[in-house]
Amino acid sequence: MTDPLAEFRAASKRGGQPCGVTVVRGALSPAQRKALDAALTDRSISAPAIVKVVGDWGHPLKRYAVENHRRGDCACRRV
Ligand SMILES: [Zn+2]
Repeated sequence: MTDPLAEFRAASKRGGQPCGVTVVRGALSPAQRKALDAALTDRSISAPAIVKVVGDWGHPLKRYAVENHRRGDCACRRV
């Protein structure tokens, strides 16, 4: 019996790209990581502001990665 969803399940597991936020997080100092985590959960901090600060720290980050991560629509959710 073939599972009509098998191909989709396999694609979900592969998950494409890892979450950019998590990749950058791993490269930050503990203090920067703490600041980033606080910024991510603070809705008064905009995604472009996070991209700018993390970029100034020397870590390129995409705005959509921040937005997807905040929505929980990223690879972090699938692991
Ligand atoms: Zn994420």
